[in-house]
Amino acid sequence: MLEKTNPYMRQANLIGGEWVQADSGATIDVINPASGQKLGTVPKCGKAETRRAIEAADKAFATFRKTTALERSKLLRNLHDAILDNQDALAQLLTLEQGKSLAEAKGEIGASAAYVLWFAEEARRTYGDVVPSPWADRRIIVTREPVGVIAAITPWNFPSSMLARKIGPAIAAGCTSVVKPASQTPYSGLAWGALCEEAGIPAGVVNIVTGAAGEIGDEICANPIVKKLTFTGSTEVGKVLIEKSAATVKKVSMELGGNAPFLIFDDADIDRAVEGAIMAKYRNSGQTCVCTNRFFVQAGVYDEFVEKFAAASAKLKVGPGVEDGVQQGPLIDLKAVEKVEELIADASAKGGKIVTGGKRHELGGSFFQPTVISEANPTMRFMEEEIFGPVAPVFRFDEEDEAVALANSTQYGLACYFYTGDLGRAFRVMEGLKYGMVGVNEGLITTPEAPFGGVKESGLGREGGHQGIEDYLDTKYVCIGGL
Ligand code: ADP
Repeated sequence: MLEKTNPYMRQANLIGGEWVQADSGATIDVINPASGQKLGTVPKCGKAETRRAIEAADKAFATFRKTTALERSKLLRNLHDAILDNQDALAQLLTLEQGKSLAEAKGEIGASAAYVLWFAEEARRTYGDVVPSPWADRRIIVTREPVGVIAAITPWNFPSSMLARKIGPAIAAGCTSVVKPASQTPYSGLAWGALCEEAGIPAGVVNIVTGAAGEIGDEICANPIVKKLTFTGSTEVGKVLIEKSAATVKKVSMELGGNAPFLIFDDADIDRAVEGAIMAKYRNSGQTCVCTNRFFVQAGVYDEFVEKFAAASAKLKVGPGVEDGVQQGPLIDLKAVEKVEELIADASAKGGKIVTGGKRHELGGSFFQPTVISEANPTMRFMEEEIFGPVAPVFRFDEEDEAVALANSTQYGLACYFYTGDLGRAFRVMEGLKYGMVGVNEGLITTPEAPFGGVKESGLGREGGHQGIEDYLDTKYVCIGGL
């Protein structure tokens, strides 16, 4: 049994330092998407357990808020070390429940550690201001304080690193948290509980509940103790959570959907663009919010790009993530496969040509062939909808302005990419794209040092960078008079 060999597989929730089951004893099965087999269960908690977790976080906040920045920085360094010391076990758990290749899973665990280290450093830099006063007898001081109890809701595609971006700044700022990982991938979330214990983070500072998303979400939104909600997931659910959080005027940060365009101009280095395109399309089998959804290629290099990109796509090794050399794991479930099939059928009916792939993989289950579709056009559903799978529609364009306009014609604004060898064009296009993140001649740009986040309906707030701790802090203005 995996539980016996992997110390990070916890089939319980962490509330106030205790590993517990749901009040009702109900559980949710956790399935390995590569085999369809059950890995184990986690508690199916609801409102009552969530309320207790919030109260435990509130109790812990009373003392945790008084810790020094240096103490919190040290705790985060311990946490960073605990993650790296156990990278293999954590990556194994991640691959088994999520499906991505072991190489990608190790990369994600490494990224989690890197975010935690970044916030260990940022913990010591939450400076305030001393402002020149307009009054001779008064002084103005501005300080930063932790917002209090925060709640985090995270998705299944990056079940470890999405928590790193939330637990990291929360601890750095002196906040305590209640975390709800996605039900498909709860073990990588619950592992943070075990890691926090190892790192010496006090009981109640991080609480983790799994279960009924709607009930847990409703309690989080309605409970006035929770001062901030940070969410990564679909735009649809994000909008519901923003609306529900209005009742208690919480701070919200939202990392929502994307519809990333990838532009290739005639003057680009096509081989580099193909390399970038493979990374920007197929990471996690296309299941990331920054994965390219639409390729726009200028007419002069269209055929060359399609040919080289399709050849590189066809070479990707598909298989169970735990096997050596596998680059593409299964999709998270059959629903995801059906969505991808629907989008391909829609494109085919509207004139799209399948250059490679296009079908379920012979391995069966939720494995899907890396797919390139040429002659894509704006009437296809790709224009509006997130694919979240290994399918690459390639559109043709003639003029720079036309490409930028097409790239911007979406309600989303998370990541975008473009390839050009012309400096003037690089600046014009970079400034014209309405996105929160731009890769210029780069297809993989996420790093803890830089602010990750979107504009338009892709979200609110930033994770990482010096901005990443902002949302976890309140600003307090103090006026000292009678001098
Ligand atoms: P995805 O498409 O990645 O599954 P979702 O937005 O559905 O994105 O899920 C992201 C996270 O939000 C998951 O942890 C999920 O359980 C949770 N979630 C889904 N619906 C709700 C809801 N109504 N309230 C709170 N959390 C929710």
